[in-house]
Amino acid sequence: MMRYTLPRDMYYGNGALEQLKNIKGKKAILVLGGGSMKKFGFVERVVKYLTEAGIETKLFENVEPDPSVETVMKGAKAMQDFEPDWIIAMGGGSPIDAAKAMWVFYEYPDTSFEEIIQPFSFPELRQKAKFIAIPSTSGTATEVTAFSVITDYAKGIKYPLADFNITPDIAIVDPALAETMPPTLTAHTGMDALTHAVEAYVSTLNSPFTDPLAIKAIQMVFEYLMASYQGDMSAREQMHYAQCMAGQAFSNALLGIVHSMAHKTGAAFSTGHIPHGCANAIYLPYVIKFNAKTAQKRYADIARSLGITGTDAEIVKGLCDKIDEYNVKLGIPKTLKEFGINEKEFLEKVAVIAELAIGDACTGSNPRTITVKEMEKLLTCTYYGTEVDF
Ligand code: FE
Repeated sequence: MMRYTLPRDMYYGNGALEQLKNIKGKKAILVLGGGSMKKFGFVERVVKYLTEAGIETKLFENVEPDPSVETVMKGAKAMQDFEPDWIIAMGGGSPIDAAKAMWVFYEYPDTSFEEIIQPFSFPELRQKAKFIAIPSTSGTATEVTAFSVITDYAKGIKYPLADFNITPDIAIVDPALAETMPPTLTAHTGMDALTHAVEAYVSTLNSPFTDPLAIKAIQMVFEYLMASYQGDMSAREQMHYAQCMAGQAFSNALLGIVHSMAHKTGAAFSTGHIPHGCANAIYLPYVIKFNAKTAQKRYADIARSLGITGTDAEIVKGLCDKIDEYNVKLGIPKTLKEFGINEKEFLEKVAVIAELAIGDACTGSNPRTITVKEMEKLLTCTYYGTEVDF
């Protein structure tokens, strides 16, 4: 038996934020990131709408990028003190992810972080509060997914938490919030969304429920990302929906090794962080070539849906060329070398990274099985830009 879970309600379109006026409850805690939502006036609007609904609101601000276990515990404590019946998280992926984890420890104060690392092992939530997610970036789709990424800085490990209990109750997908994204963030998050949809479509857990969402999301990314990147706000709106659809697909079909590689290389090098969406964009064409050995037909479906014609082998190559072309236009490098990763450091670390990537939670649903040696070879191809022919 399989399970398919999404938020009960999704409100979308310009002005969707106003739906908060109609929420029934007594107290809400509003979890926020660094301050951009305040700066652009969205926090004020949310508080105003909730006041109109007769709800008392408390802010929990300054969730850092890549939120820590400490921030999660601090937020859970604030929730225990305030006792909200709504948790509302607004901003990029980080405050929403952090709030999802806070929710668990608010409802179960005696649970330890270690106890929820195991996927799909969460205690039953919604005993004290329900959850509203309001995204301001167009990529992670955490507003509709069962996932949250929390970093244990003491151990130097990023934990992907997974459980349908943390799929939000309500997602408010208001494109006005996404208008605040700068171009580079628009490019990276857009390619993250594309990767979600492609990986969900070819995943071993793909299904008739997730396929249409994935295909439509891919078509929309190719139609709207470039214009959104160039500042066209009606294209930005469509990208905000496309990423949300990709999220609905991958929350239920899971991902593949593009994400395994991005997770394990993101913070691996001394030259600096590789932004998640940028890493995905670099790896995606290489992984398609690797996976095509067993999943050619599925990639060919994607290519065909984009109007690429030819034999299956030809159109899968055409799909990779199209992604390469977008990466160039979006200012995304073709290789890790071009990104600026030091060659000596890469060669020193690649074996360990390959092993970690194989152990990543996303590897299990990749359409082609992969050994540590093959992963090392694949990562090396992405460093030098050499052809994937194994
Ligand atoms: Fe992602």
